[in-house]
Amino acid sequence: MRFATLSGRLHQVIAPGRVLDLNAASDGKLPADPQLAYERWDEVLAFAAGARPDGAHEASEETYGNPAPQPRQVFAIGLNYADHAAESDFAVPEHPPVFTKFVSSLAGPFGEIVMPEGHVDWEVELVVVIGRHAHRVSAEEAWSYVAGVSVGQDISERVLQSAGPAPQFSLGKSYPGFGPIGPVLVTPDELPDRDNLELGCLINGEQVQKGHTRDMVFPVPELIARLSAVTPLLPGDVLFTGTPSGVGLGRTPQRWLQAGDELVSYVRGVGEMRHRLVAPTA
Ligand code: ZN
Repeated sequence: MRFATLSGRLHQVIAPGRVLDLNAASDGKLPADPQLAYERWDEVLAFAAGARPDGAHEASEETYGNPAPQPRQVFAIGLNYADHAAESDFAVPEHPPVFTKFVSSLAGPFGEIVMPEGHVDWEVELVVVIGRHAHRVSAEEAWSYVAGVSVGQDISERVLQSAGPAPQFSLGKSYPGFGPIGPVLVTPDELPDRDNLELGCLINGEQVQKGHTRDMVFPVPELIARLSAVTPLLPGDVLFTGTPSGVGLGRTPQRWLQAGDELVSYVRGVGEMRHRLVAPTA
């Protein structure tokens, strides 16, 4: 099944461009707020599986917002693909490096991203949204705690990210708009192979990243096991799972996003986001 947020309300995507408001369709039984809906995800799935699409309406995908707009926790993983670790001049990690993108950096799947000063870089990522309270879960059962997956960009300003004395990953990756997610949340059962998804991104039509999630150093179940061994993962929490090679930092010469660039980010079988980079207004 596929879900989307429109005007802040959770919708089921019945068919491309055709959506059902789940709060209205359930006569108010299901919450309209997507973050509250993740608290009752089993109920949402049960209702959506049997929902009669009479009340569905047309809505172009460009109107979809972030399907997980107000998580209580956002986890992000660095260096989770060996080829990206290599281009970043790091060894393949023995433990997943974890940071956060502050919630105010999250954004929708279409629109403008305002660039701060510095070196603004791209990182397409598979995003996982948690659907059940997960504490000390094993890798074997981890997927059953996932509400769905989506497309994400871990936009990063590299100067601040690497400013000493210790790296500032969380801050350098948290300017407003630096965490777009969307356009849809896809339940894992909808995917032919949830452990091997192609992801990539293009700048002005030129493909700059292309990878496969089977190449993760720590696959999604392993990440959930390791994170939940320490921190309970809460319904609606967001996990950015790391980026494959092809970022601007790892190029010779290095390349950064420019005002006017169009950034297209996709996970095949899940969705595609489209953003325009813009200069700050003085
Ligand atoms: Zn990243």
